[in-house]
Amino acid sequence: MYHLPVLKNRRTLLERAEKFISEIYFTDCNLRGRLYGDSCPLESIASFLSPARIPFTEASKQNFAPYKVGETFGPTWWTSWFKVTLEIPAAWRGKEVHLLWESDGEGMVWRDGQPVQGLTKDGEKTSYILSECLKDEEPHSLTLYVEVACNGLFGAGQGSMIAAPDPKRKFSVQRAELVIFNRDVRRLLTDFEMLVDIVKELGEGEQRGYQALFTVNEMVNLCDPSDPSSFPRVHSLAHKFFSQRNGESQHTVHAMGHCHIDSAWLWPYEETIRKCGRSWVTAIGLMEKDPEFVFTCSQAQQFQWVKSWYPGLFSKIQHYVKKGQFIPVGGAWVEMDGNLPSGESMVRQFLEGQRFFDREFGMFCKEFWLPDTFGYSAQLPQIMQGCGIANFLTQKLSWNLVNTFPHNTFFWEGLDGSKVLTHFPPGNSYEMKGRVEELLKTVNNNKDKGRANHSAALFGFGDGGGGPTQLMLDRLHLVQDTDGIPRIRMSSPDKLFSQLQADSALLCTWTGELFLELHNGTYTTQAEIKRGNRQCEALLHDIEIASSLALCRDRTFLYPVEKLQELWRLLLLNQFHDVIPGSCIEMVVKDALKYYEDIRCDGAALLRKACEVLGSRGSSTGAFNTLPWERQEVVQIQDGDDKPRLALVRVPSIGVSPINDAQPVTPVSVTAQADGTVLMENGILQTVINKDGTLASLHLLSANRESISDGCCGNQFVMFDDVPLYWDAWDVMDYHLQTRKPVVEVLQPAHVVSTGGLRGSVSVTLRVSDKSVITQEIVMDAMCPYVKFNTEVQWEESHKFLKVEFPVRVRSPNATYEIQFGHLQRPTHMNTSWDWARFEVWGHKWADLSEHNFGVALLNDCKYGYSIHKNTMTLSLLRAPKAPDATADMGTHRFAYAVMPHTGSFQDASVIRCAYNLNFPLRLIQCSPDLEPWSAFSVGAQSVVLETVKQAEDVKGTLVVRLYESHGSSVTTTLSTFLPIREAWHCDLLERRDAGRPVHLTAGGITLTFSPFQIVSLLLIL
Ligand SMILES: [Zn+2]
Repeated sequence: MYHLPVLKNRRTLLERAEKFISEIYFTDCNLRGRLYGDSCPLESIASFLSPARIPFTEASKQNFAPYKVGETFGPTWWTSWFKVTLEIPAAWRGKEVHLLWESDGEGMVWRDGQPVQGLTKDGEKTSYILSECLKDEEPHSLTLYVEVACNGLFGAGQGSMIAAPDPKRKFSVQRAELVIFNRDVRRLLTDFEMLVDIVKELGEGEQRGYQALFTVNEMVNLCDPSDPSSFPRVHSLAHKFFSQRNGESQHTVHAMGHCHIDSAWLWPYEETIRKCGRSWVTAIGLMEKDPEFVFTCSQAQQFQWVKSWYPGLFSKIQHYVKKGQFIPVGGAWVEMDGNLPSGESMVRQFLEGQRFFDREFGMFCKEFWLPDTFGYSAQLPQIMQGCGIANFLTQKLSWNLVNTFPHNTFFWEGLDGSKVLTHFPPGNSYEMKGRVEELLKTVNNNKDKGRANHSAALFGFGDGGGGPTQLMLDRLHLVQDTDGIPRIRMSSPDKLFSQLQADSALLCTWTGELFLELHNGTYTTQAEIKRGNRQCEALLHDIEIASSLALCRDRTFLYPVEKLQELWRLLLLNQFHDVIPGSCIEMVVKDALKYYEDIRCDGAALLRKACEVLGSRGSSTGAFNTLPWERQEVVQIQDGDDKPRLALVRVPSIGVSPINDAQPVTPVSVTAQADGTVLMENGILQTVINKDGTLASLHLLSANRESISDGCCGNQFVMFDDVPLYWDAWDVMDYHLQTRKPVVEVLQPAHVVSTGGLRGSVSVTLRVSDKSVITQEIVMDAMCPYVKFNTEVQWEESHKFLKVEFPVRVRSPNATYEIQFGHLQRPTHMNTSWDWARFEVWGHKWADLSEHNFGVALLNDCKYGYSIHKNTMTLSLLRAPKAPDATADMGTHRFAYAVMPHTGSFQDASVIRCAYNLNFPLRLIQCSPDLEPWSAFSVGAQSVVLETVKQAEDVKGTLVVRLYESHGSSVTTTLSTFLPIREAWHCDLLERRDAGRPVHLTAGGITLTFSPFQIVSLLLIL
């Protein structure tokens, strides 16, 4: 009798199994070659090309011309609609029949007027199932439509993915036919693939890997690809292996389907709508077959898009949300940038998002979901908690270039001490494919072994959409409890976090920001987007305050609820994590700037309407102060004959005052000196401006202190070479610091423009290169504690970085930077790798470097990139990356920054207020000549900022006010108002009344208690 020889050669047995399922080798005789049976051409294909993205009803009415497979169409961003007629051969009875469609654009199948499935070759979706088992009574003749977008999952980058799109790219359909699909072959292929992967991934050190090796080898021995009757025995061998279970202590992987869709990135916003449609309808299709399949889906904005573009699909989504399979996550309007949006913007992301999810699905999300964003503000835990969210999921810190983040599951403690349970899926991905490698990585990478025995695995094609496939689900089902591989269960964020919370006793706590050590260029790239964001945040703030006050003064005033929501949503959309960071293509930049223009234009009209009520109308000019402290500032007004004139005005907090001339205590004087320098002083500061616009001296008179470091000059422009390793628009690398070159060429030396009085100013023009020029007006106002630099740059550079430096006479190991609703310190030295990885950091309106009793603050009106090393304070101004937008930042830029020396601490010196003042200029209004100045709100404590006044979302005639403690101190203070308030309540950031916390109203106002950086919201019922 013949005995099979026993073979121990791991290499030959493994490669034999690989060849048995290879797509390239031996397909004439291997199992892969049997995946498809007979094929049959389509009856007809006709196409219609459209430059615009049009709805199905419109497309289906067009004239379609015959199309031959292989013919090209385009160009990029157009859409080709295909009308497909097909006839399934009757002889295919009992077979699984697919429409096989391979094209290099992203496709969507329409059947009976409804979207039914996405078809994306790079997302491994090339089949549309016509019948799982063809029956005689099924329709054999069909007409389908396929809508093919002329872009891929990742847009149409020329050469590399992030290169600017090729506008002339042509697309084609390479294959379109009917085929018989052999499901039993597919099932067996999956058995083989998973076993081969187990052999490879477990390596030579694990006996389980050898068990897989001998199993798979025996399967090849038994399998005759040409004889399906051999398949069951082969499958049962695999089944025996896969059903050998894990022990009880095995790690549990919570698998969740996911499809990360960037709301705009390498494609415009409009295409994202179709990406959502294609991806989500496919996910629904998988759900219809697999009741265990769970799909997590973020971004209310995308749901809103699908609701208006694909109402039928949206109803299905609502159905599966109810069933718990389609799970909205994140609670935010979009997956926003985690650094740059203001505190109020972050609140609004959740307010708009959570309210949308509540309205459409009857639920609030319990977790914040931001897998792909470039760093996370230390104020997020408090904002999340205030919006009903206690859990947080991301993985992006795995991208750190320098330091490995030490935890996967931990408590994240924010600036005020709020804590949220946080999970970074240890597989370091939000687009897994259900492969063995990823599942093992999820266990092996877990940095909380022994303390957290549950992890998330998000599977499905992502970034450009696509989502999960049947194959991914098959893989995960196959190994759900197989010895050697972590235990897998289809799960949900809720189940995962409940498990982690239940067993959280040994979890570590990380305090402060989650800083991403990469993508630091995104604080600066696309300066016009940054400026649009900052200015529109301020405008919406002012409109809400003006409209709230108008409502109180005139109860017939209509608070612009819908228009404000529309404008807020545009602002929030642009805060998406590839838009506000500037990492998007030119088309997206254009859309974003258009949205800012819409906000400015419509917002100006809203503000005008509200201000008409505030000023009692009239022919005089008044000033409106939207900030909660009294301000005395120089403003420029138009006189009767339209001549600009300066005036010094004092306006009460959140109030209005007529403009009456008042003489300053000390006027500004500006003197050109014999050596070509200019001396400028206002009784607070005295500065000497060199011919090249740099400051030779900046003297704080009351303290008799010089601010500028010995032998150095302030306001020094510097250029750097800025060539990152790959992610052009995203990254500035540490080595750019070694290429510093001061801007020294003077085109027009500093000269006096305004000799003083209320305002003194000096102008200077510098040449940066043969194409780029800086023109600057250096301004000193009466009574103003800072020198302001109004700057215009004509910028035509390539891979350069422009910054401005202030070397100051201050020594401190830490600098302070404003963040959302507060501030934090970062080191000025490079002791450890964690310190030097922060060579370029983000801040909002100000940064400060102080030693005891003296410091210098650097304020700005639309910048976010800072670096303060040793005693040099640097503000990042402009970059010039070429991908993915080849024209990024080219053109004219206007921005302002200011330098402010001070005694005491920055808190006591009102640095925070000055930065607000710079960003929220007094608004001029029409008023009656006899208007008495009035103030609507004032706050007793200097440290408490009244940030927001708005009408409550749900209730007419009720205001929401939001305050925060800005100094990092515990304080009790009084909010005073003349508004006729009947009752007041504490509420959360979603404006839900805290029934246990009524507010005690007295004639003196409302007494409030704050802990450091605490945010407090109140409902004021009029
Ligand atoms: Zn993303």
